[in-house]
Amino acid sequence: MAARQASLFTNDELPENLLPWEIEGAASRAVADVVFNRPLPQVFQYVIPEPLVDLLQPGQRVRAPFGRGDRPLAGYCVGISIGQSPERRLKSLVEVIDREPLVDGALLKLTRWIADHTLCGWGQVLESVVPAGVKNRSGTRELVYLSLSNDARSRWQEMKLPAKQKAVVAALAGATGPLRIDDLAELAGCGVSPIQTLRDKGIVVSARQREMQTTTALPAADPRRDLKLNVLQLRASESILAAIRAAEHRTFLLHGVTGSGKTEVYMRAIEEVVAYRRQAIVLVPEISLTPQTIRRFRSRFDRVSVLHSHLSDAERHAHWRQIATGDVDVVIGARSAVFAPTPHLGLIVLDEEHESSFKQETTPRYHAREVARERARSLNVPLVLGTATPTLESWQRAVEGKDVLLSMPERVARRPMPPVVVVDIRNDPYIRQGGAIGRALLQAMQQALKDDGQIILFLNVRGYSPVLWCRACGEPMRCPDCDISLTWHKQRGVALCHGCDYETLRFQQCPKCQAPGLRHLGTGTERLEAEIRSRFPDVPCLRMDSDTMSARGSHDAALESFRHGQVKILLGTQMIAKGLDFPQVTLVGVVDADTVLHQPDPRASERTFQLIAQVAGRTGRGDRAGRVLVQTCCPDQPAIQAAARHDFIGFAREELIHRQEVLAPPFSHTARLVARGPREPDVQAWIQATANVLRELAAPVGVRVRGPAPCQIARAKTLFRYHLQVQHESLETLLTLWRSAEGRFPPGGEVDSIVDVDPLNMR
Ligand code: ADP
Ligand code: ZN
Repeated sequence: MAARQASLFTNDELPENLLPWEIEGAASRAVADVVFNRPLPQVFQYVIPEPLVDLLQPGQRVRAPFGRGDRPLAGYCVGISIGQSPERRLKSLVEVIDREPLVDGALLKLTRWIADHTLCGWGQVLESVVPAGVKNRSGTRELVYLSLSNDARSRWQEMKLPAKQKAVVAALAGATGPLRIDDLAELAGCGVSPIQTLRDKGIVVSARQREMQTTTALPAADPRRDLKLNVLQLRASESILAAIRAAEHRTFLLHGVTGSGKTEVYMRAIEEVVAYRRQAIVLVPEISLTPQTIRRFRSRFDRVSVLHSHLSDAERHAHWRQIATGDVDVVIGARSAVFAPTPHLGLIVLDEEHESSFKQETTPRYHAREVARERARSLNVPLVLGTATPTLESWQRAVEGKDVLLSMPERVARRPMPPVVVVDIRNDPYIRQGGAIGRALLQAMQQALKDDGQIILFLNVRGYSPVLWCRACGEPMRCPDCDISLTWHKQRGVALCHGCDYETLRFQQCPKCQAPGLRHLGTGTERLEAEIRSRFPDVPCLRMDSDTMSARGSHDAALESFRHGQVKILLGTQMIAKGLDFPQVTLVGVVDADTVLHQPDPRASERTFQLIAQVAGRTGRGDRAGRVLVQTCCPDQPAIQAAARHDFIGFAREELIHRQEVLAPPFSHTARLVARGPREPDVQAWIQATANVLRELAAPVGVRVRGPAPCQIARAKTLFRYHLQVQHESLETLLTLWRSAEGRFPPGGEVDSIVDVDPLNMR
């Protein structure tokens, strides 16, 4: 087994479709490049034994001896080289698992790029990108088809055979193609035994074929509804159409305020692509995959495939196949739909570009926006990023002219942006008495209900109260396994850890000092709901958070009842902050704008701005004007002030000056290493030794190493957590440094670690 560094192929040399039998004398010297689902940067080489040569192409899985284990390990063949004799004796592959490649050459290259840019193994990326249902061929079964042998086909009429066998042969000769055994028996008017006999004689031959059983009939399209684009929409779409027509890669940042009609711009561009018989991928956050969104696309395009997280393995496999055969024009889905195997991709749209759910928080820790950028670049097609509140990473690229900025600063039909009132609640009498709804918000709610409007209240904390506190010893109740205080969930009657789902019923007394009577501090959505019900006992109100919305479909049902006006007050977590379009909403309340602001996170201000702007986007969308109340204890905070003025550009300008001063993103890239283990001294020692290795190599190339230090959540699920950060202006420099250092990291033992490139989650 020979290991080489990852540079076996540069991206552009990766063989797209090299068939070994097309090369003379290849058989004896064919070598497969294989990667495994392991955090290793290497590609491993194996001899392809003669009988397997014809069966193997890049993109298929194989089994090969690996490491010290006795059982061969499954891996992915990522390349085949022919003709050169390898420098060393290589082991042989033992099996080819798949009959056909699971991914094509372009997708292989993309997964390689992801491994390089997220610092994980190529095999890990492939394992994650190919859906389980595709790997196990879920929802298919193998059928046997029968036909005449070539020899029999030419001279079956002269053959001397018993009558029944003759009938079978005649039936096959007259058929337009191979037949299933039952159909053949019926056609020939006999049982299966004459057929078996003919098979034994070699006159009838069989072939196996795998067929889909799950169907993915696309629902009939909804009636078509055309809108005349306004001037701003036309201007934005013209730029995108020009890139499509010129077959050029460009990234467009479509910065349009909420309600400016961005979706119509996407659909105009997709129409163009579909007219060229190419496909478009539309990426949206999972929570925006509502029936409303899907309906909008189905009303415009005939062949729309929706990849949501509730698909079974068999359904996912069927969709994958259908997309790969080119039977779908538009693929809509969350993050992982960026890998949809469209044969002639013409455009990628990523809506709500600022959404952190586009970043995957398990290996491979990729950001769908960056993967989309690379996929679009390599295929020479445009990428459209749309949002009302761009991330500063994307904004800075547009400011520097690397990407094209398209602006739609006004709502459609001249609807005004809703006025946003910042309410200082530090001296509010109701809040002092322990309520969550202050005087101004209460009055605004009463007024909105009087005018027969609907209300949305947003609170980013679930449960009844986020802290259970003992007044005798002053201690909050903590999870025994995590460095996290327990949240009181009144309805379920448990105190719950939001880090690990630990729950306890023993909350009557303090676990430390046994004093009775714990106090509930702070307000979550459950407590807010109780407060609303006591303030407005006759008004139908609905809470949406992950506790009430766990059942499949409950989310959609809840939104429908709000749309139809049965529910007047909708309250919930971020689940309700995004993308919803309800024309009757005249009041939006942000119950506590400070929950995000006080996170120790370099993006806390940016997230606060986004939160207020997105929530504000939920009102004033119909003919009725709307308004927004933001409750805060920091009314002068610049992000809150800018959001109240709807001034993204002003916010970005100030925030970027600040970020540049401290070299925070987008002015640098970061690799964050998190180490975890059951014994704190081991974790400390390991990460300190690792930091030393990194520092030694980093200093000469100007890379900064910060830490190590305990993580914000210093203990989770019984494990102690430490982290460090490696930072540099150039991502390439950072990645190169890491790859050269990681071979020298000390052995982990019980300490395990993860690396996250350009992390969004800093906890
Ligand atoms: P965004 O995605 O920017 O928030 P949408 O695309 O959802 O905005 O559009 C907001 C609303 O305006 C939708 O109900 C949409 O049907 C409507 N709309 C969009 N463009 C037009 C237009 N040119 N004329 C009339 N209504 C429009
Ligand atoms: Zn816990």
